[in-house]
Amino acid sequence: MPPDFASRLVAWQRDRGRHDLPWQGGADPYPVWVSEIMLQQTQVETVIPYFRRFTSRFPDLAALAAADEDQVLALWSGLGYYRRGRNLHAAARRIVAEHGGRFPEDFAAIQSLPGIGRSTAAAIAVFAFGQRRAILDGNVRRVLARVYGVAGWPGDRTVENRLWTLAESLLPTTGIRAYTQGLMDLGAMVCTRGRPRCETCPFTDDCLANRQGLQRELPGPRPRKTLPEKSAAMLVLLRAGEVLLEKRPPSGIWGGLWSLPECGESDDPRAAARRLGFEADVADALPAFSHSFTHFRLFIRPWALRVSRAGTVAEPGRLWLSLDDLEGAALPTPVRRILESVRA
Ligand code: SF4
Repeated sequence: MPPDFASRLVAWQRDRGRHDLPWQGGADPYPVWVSEIMLQQTQVETVIPYFRRFTSRFPDLAALAAADEDQVLALWSGLGYYRRGRNLHAAARRIVAEHGGRFPEDFAAIQSLPGIGRSTAAAIAVFAFGQRRAILDGNVRRVLARVYGVAGWPGDRTVENRLWTLAESLLPTTGIRAYTQGLMDLGAMVCTRGRPRCETCPFTDDCLANRQGLQRELPGPRPRKTLPEKSAAMLVLLRAGEVLLEKRPPSGIWGGLWSLPECGESDDPRAAARRLGFEADVADALPAFSHSFTHFRLFIRPWALRVSRAGTVAEPGRLWLSLDDLEGAALPTPVRRILESVRA
């Protein structure tokens, strides 16, 4: 096992790591916090343009706290895991209400904010305030499991506890920012899931997985479980270049986003439209497709209907959106996909 893990990682990061990410270098916790939330479950390359748009629209915590949730979700549209955007917004308001608008330095206070778990709180504490804290995201779990030969699925509580203990024990007394960034960089750039580039790794001679050829076995895989399938029929109600959208409830999938009205898979779509207060002569079946969530797959069957007579004009939670205005709307990715195909 490498006895000088931290110092070698710090040296590698300074030489080969990433130093010009748009959230790096400043003393302001706001961009650090936004980036860490976006980086949960999303890779750096995908996050960068979203981060730039988001921070240009909401340049500081006060601007984010003052925004409507719709504006926040519109800028999150396409990034997925929308709960992150809602939590970010809720946390900004909490910081204004409880911390006078200043991002808290106290670790327990950081961790108590919506959407911030132990590892994200540690990353913010390290990068924004230089605190000596251990992170353990997916990349770090993989690096530590391979270098130190920690077997088992890291999502298992016992394995996770072992990795946390290991991560805490390896922390350096100086250079905590370079060390933490180095763990992230090594996991993203060298010790990748599919094809680790062991020949360029600072731990190539000591890493247990490399010495024993166990890169594919470590970390252990998630126990196999087939995702349950659900299905939904969606109604694309069209009227003079506009489409009817309904606001989703605040919790649950796509919470707070604008989506299409749904009906049962075996329902007659025109009868379903009538129940909503609209008459449509023809219902055209659009191509069906599947969308994967973390815990299930959703089979979506969209129907396009041209509304000839509208019984209900305006109701709270409903919106007629012009098909020319899709870009700025807070839409779930599959709904955007359907509407772009209709507009084409
Ligand atoms: S030697 Fe290979 S498996 Fe081990 S930490 Fe480096 S890249 Fe990962």
